[in-house]
Amino acid sequence: MKIDHVETIHLYFEYPEGKNFSTPAGPVKGRMTTLVQVHADNGMIGVGSAYAHPAMVQAAIEHLTPLLEGRAITDTEYDPLSQFMRGDHQIERLWRGMYVWTRWSGRKGAAMVALGGIDQALWDLRGKAGGKPVWRLLGGETSKCPAYASGMLYGNSPEETAEIAGKMVEKGFRRVKMRIGYSWEYDVAAVRAVRSVIGNNIDLMCDGTWRFDLKSARRMARELVSNRVFWFEEPFEADDLDNYVALRGTVGLPLATGENEFGFEGFRELIRIAAVDIVQPDASRCGGISEVLKTARLARTAGLRFAPHSWCDPVAVISNAHVVASQDNGITVEIDQTGNRFIEELLGSPLAVKEGMLELGSRPGLGIELDPAALKRFRVTSPSDIPEGNHCDIILGPPTVLQPIPPYEGPGESD
Ligand SMILES: [Mg+2]
Repeated sequence: MKIDHVETIHLYFEYPEGKNFSTPAGPVKGRMTTLVQVHADNGMIGVGSAYAHPAMVQAAIEHLTPLLEGRAITDTEYDPLSQFMRGDHQIERLWRGMYVWTRWSGRKGAAMVALGGIDQALWDLRGKAGGKPVWRLLGGETSKCPAYASGMLYGNSPEETAEIAGKMVEKGFRRVKMRIGYSWEYDVAAVRAVRSVIGNNIDLMCDGTWRFDLKSARRMARELVSNRVFWFEEPFEADDLDNYVALRGTVGLPLATGENEFGFEGFRELIRIAAVDIVQPDASRCGGISEVLKTARLARTAGLRFAPHSWCDPVAVISNAHVVASQDNGITVEIDQTGNRFIEELLGSPLAVKEGMLELGSRPGLGIELDPAALKRFRVTSPSDIPEGNHCDIILGPPTVLQPIPPYEGPGESD
């Protein structure tokens, strides 16, 4: 089986008035994602997800495609013991070739995101060619992956946030993640309200969304511990590694980060300097299933667990979930519950979680069947067709599409 061609599919939807959520930089206008389909010469198609500025992803894919066309995809068994031996199987060799090809334009950011989209599609094809699900190719023994609801963004009252959390539990989730960083007063009230509604048998995680300094993060961490929060995610800007190192291990709950990191080398540094307890790679951002897998294996050798970030679409969720299901230090995968129509419609029906578990099934590859009608609904012919605005993580247009981000209103000296 050889690679025939690579196709990019850019998708976009706009939130109806009043149905959108807000970030610190203001309301989110809509959501976008890019799917990458690798077509083989036997008619098989592999799919991956690439989440970055769509025009940059498009350019990177076009730059990488000549390296792939006509190249074979081996269907030999993956050896889980050889994950650090580069070039031990064809996807790794192709990955390495693409990485070197983009050395001066990639390594982090959109080129790595594009590479990762291709990588997921290659794993999908490899599974299809060999008749095995990816979780089994990766050495796993179960098709079930724990999954958590990610939602409850800024702008809600503590009571409304707690009500949304309760609905997530009713939907079948056993873990929920909420955003904090609005203000000390709101955060404390919201965390307490959510814990009170979901009870003590549901895991609660808090995403700090880069809003804290070391002092306010320490204080918030104490509050989170008293509410039995499972992990404290990204209290600081992703590159502010000194603060992560300073906070980690001093506050009685795990520190999580990684959604803004790229490539095994990036995660190796996070782990080497002991900046993190729970590592959060994302196949749709960090370089694909290959990089999530290598990061997971490295985390394991350091005694750490991993819980992939997933935000853009169900292909990303499922790619990440195959790695979590296959590795004994995989905790859970994130599922966007903010009214993301890609999550709800691209597979024909919403990703279903029962008793906290996402069922991946035993179909070959990633087991994904995209709904053609949904693809047609969301597809834009060119990245330039996506309107300017705040699309959550990806901003298109001039900075004036953003609102000024107010400083975090901390607890004050007397608290
Ligand atoms: Mg996050």
